[in-house]
Amino acid sequence: MKEKGMTTINLKKFNRNKVYQYIYQQKETSKLQIVRDLQMGLSTVSQNLNELEQDGLICRNGYFESTGGRKAQIIRIVEDFRISLGLGILKDMFHIVAVNLYGEVMATETIELPYVNSDTYYTSLAENVETFILNRQYEPEKIEGISIATQGIISPDGTAVIYGDIMGNTQMKLSDFSSRLPYSCHLEHDSKSAADLELWNHPQFDSALIFLLNPNLGGAIITNHKVHQGKHMHSGLFEHICIDPNGPDCYCGHRGCLETYCSANALKAAAGMPIKDFFKILHTTQTPTLLRIWRDYLDHLAFAIRNLNLVIDSPVIISGYLAPYFRNADMQYLLEKINEQSLFHMEEDQLLVGNHGQYTPAIGAALYYLKEFLSPVIS
Ligand SMILES: [Zn+2]
Repeated sequence: MKEKGMTTINLKKFNRNKVYQYIYQQKETSKLQIVRDLQMGLSTVSQNLNELEQDGLICRNGYFESTGGRKAQIIRIVEDFRISLGLGILKDMFHIVAVNLYGEVMATETIELPYVNSDTYYTSLAENVETFILNRQYEPEKIEGISIATQGIISPDGTAVIYGDIMGNTQMKLSDFSSRLPYSCHLEHDSKSAADLELWNHPQFDSALIFLLNPNLGGAIITNHKVHQGKHMHSGLFEHICIDPNGPDCYCGHRGCLETYCSANALKAAAGMPIKDFFKILHTTQTPTLLRIWRDYLDHLAFAIRNLNLVIDSPVIISGYLAPYFRNADMQYLLEKINEQSLFHMEEDQLLVGNHGQYTPAIGAALYYLKEFLSPVIS
């Protein structure tokens, strides 16, 4: 599309972006395919490919199987031309991941570091991040930025945590990170980061409900292909929906919140043992008491899903730390329980389970800089 009034420089940029975007989406393509599908002249495409290759954005390696004539060279983007880092900060540790331009995980690490709002903490965190980068020999100029997912509600301008009762991180500021790390930094609410990852993995969903089954429960709502933030940034805070005013105490100061039934911590407390051990025993022995605890957990989750689905009629994605422990039989049971007392029938393909476990928020956060890099190309 040649836009009226577009300068030559803009048109060149526009074409270059179009070619790069096309290659990105195709993953593997050839020069002639680009010419044909973008309806651009051969010389324009050749020139753009040469420039993109010189700048290190694309590579040409190998050949497609011949279909008769000369074999066509395979063109791909350079997947690690830019790397985005994501951190997932929890009370006792933080997760760190690196993703490439396709959002594929290149490395993950868990670092034990109890959260304290102090200089020592942030300095130690920054040192660990630098070591992570150094150990993997990522060139600093390739790192597009570091996006940090933490528990707590982030201010609308993204500079600070404004509610952080779980970790006591209400004082956490973006500058605590950006002043210590020589990269662009960005701060996010971890359940929203998780939702970003699930959305990235399921781009076909216009809307969805995300349950982040982490040590603390989190929730997020996707509408119009976007995570719904809300006027005060607290849309999707399912964890504090009260399901029994006389129920157990929640860290928020109220009682009977969903957090006290459906967080991994609640399951751990009911089981009286670490989550790993609980599932190991449950899956090998089917001990009736453990099975009852697990079913009780699933019953509460089904209750929440059934009710929230009346607010947002959409697929539901189970995500986060507990997600990898869900087996087919558990999903079946959950679906049965959802449908048992529901006005509307939920189909099997509307209930999904994420597959990045504890790293979900960190990976979701990392997508921020990757999308930043790609956005001038994609839009
Ligand atoms: Zn609560």
